[in-house]
Amino acid sequence: MIGLELPKSALQLKSMLNNVAINLFRPIARKYDEAEHEYPKELDVMRGAMGGLGGRRPPEDSAGKGKDKPESESLGTNMMTIIGTEEMGYGDTGLMLSIPGRGLGNAAIAAVATEEQKQKFGDKWAAMAITEPESGSDSGSITTTAVLDGDEWVLNGEKIFVTCADRCEVVVIWATVDPSAGKAGIKSFIVEKGTPGFKLEKLEYKLGIRASDTGTFVLKDCRIPKENLLGSAEVKKRSTEGFKGVMKTFDNTRPMVAAMSNGVARAALELTREKMEEGGCKLDYHRNINNIGSMEKEYYMLEANLEAMRLLTYKAAWMADNKEFNSLEASMAKAKAGRCGTLITQKCCELLGPLGISQKYLAEKWMRDSKILDIFEGTGQIQHLIIARNVLKLSSKELR
Ligand SMILES: Cc1cc2nc3c(=O)[nH]c(=O)nc-3n(C[C@H](O)[C@H](O)[C@H](O)COP(=O)(O)OP(=O)(O)OC[C@H]3O[C@@H](n4cnc5c(N)ncnc54)[C@H](O)[C@@H]3O)c2cc1C
Repeated sequence: MIGLELPKSALQLKSMLNNVAINLFRPIARKYDEAEHEYPKELDVMRGAMGGLGGRRPPEDSAGKGKDKPESESLGTNMMTIIGTEEMGYGDTGLMLSIPGRGLGNAAIAAVATEEQKQKFGDKWAAMAITEPESGSDSGSITTTAVLDGDEWVLNGEKIFVTCADRCEVVVIWATVDPSAGKAGIKSFIVEKGTPGFKLEKLEYKLGIRASDTGTFVLKDCRIPKENLLGSAEVKKRSTEGFKGVMKTFDNTRPMVAAMSNGVARAALELTREKMEEGGCKLDYHRNINNIGSMEKEYYMLEANLEAMRLLTYKAAWMADNKEFNSLEASMAKAKAGRCGTLITQKCCELLGPLGISQKYLAEKWMRDSKILDIFEGTGQIQHLIIARNVLKLSSKELR
């Protein structure tokens, strides 16, 4: 049975990261929103200090950890991670995504790298490059190729919208070793910055999370050592097991993205409440429902959405900690939090009136920041597709 009471260890973590959010992230949030592409050097103090938390890096090998301890004393790593993630999202999502050494590529390395690869790349900041100009939601259709030539893989292709593209030290690149094999031919490769034929082509200018850098890589006859392939080189034709295994990483990371959304939405609601109350609109949960004003009613509905977002997120993370298959719940959490996070931050700007648009406050920034949380790691529409497949017990071939 799911226990939602936070034990002391979780409350301590929440309090510590709330402190980071308020005292480290918030004071520099506007600065790096304006200075897009500039590295937030203030984050250097967090290098190596985050354990299993932070960035888009999911808990390493976390399933079941903490389960052997009494529930009152400890939560599993996934639960602890989403509690910490909500706090940092509450501080600033763009900065959270810029914590050194916490890229999504680090998750792939932690999950499937050999001991030698972990020794060589484990401490490096790793981005993850899946998306291509012609392949986004349908990641099984990537066209970047990897051809074995003697002791080297030769990579060719283009990768777009890569988080931490400029700041990372290595990139985990998805490429196909056999285009005729479909998903079975897709493998991931570690490419070090500075490798000839591997070029950071450009950085994006974005609507939100501007503190986080996002870029395009071009690979042109880029040669990397044979041993930089992550996992097995074997191509089992018509088997999608390997690909499905990689996609399972997202069952851990999607609740994290949901938790970021919960944090941003909470920040917006808190500011809105403060300003509504300053303006004389006192929120009173005991007042008869027939007697509340429209602003108050709107606020309660947004608050209820945040509670639902958080409960779905906790459920998905709790299931991962308890080794339960959580693909459905992870997608439900991300779909709900992605959609309602954008709704809440937008409605808060409305409730705030001119203060919601003014750069004096962060509300307008939170509205811009929240949109990406409904896009990366699978758009809202794709989460709905995954939910439908799970509920209707249909395969990806049967329901596209
Ligand atoms: C700031 C930012 C950071 C990112 N970071 C990374 C990263 O680090 N690494 C990485 O690899 N990628 C990253 N991405 C890419 C991101 O994951 C993709 O943008 C996302 O998966 C959507 O792919 P797409 O942009 O190609 O859209 P498309 O797949 O072209 O989709 C366009 C629209 O069609 C909808 N759609 C597509 N297929 C279906 C379907 N079958 N049913 C219903 N609707 C559908 C989508 O929901 C969307 O609304 C990032 C993107 C951004 C903007």
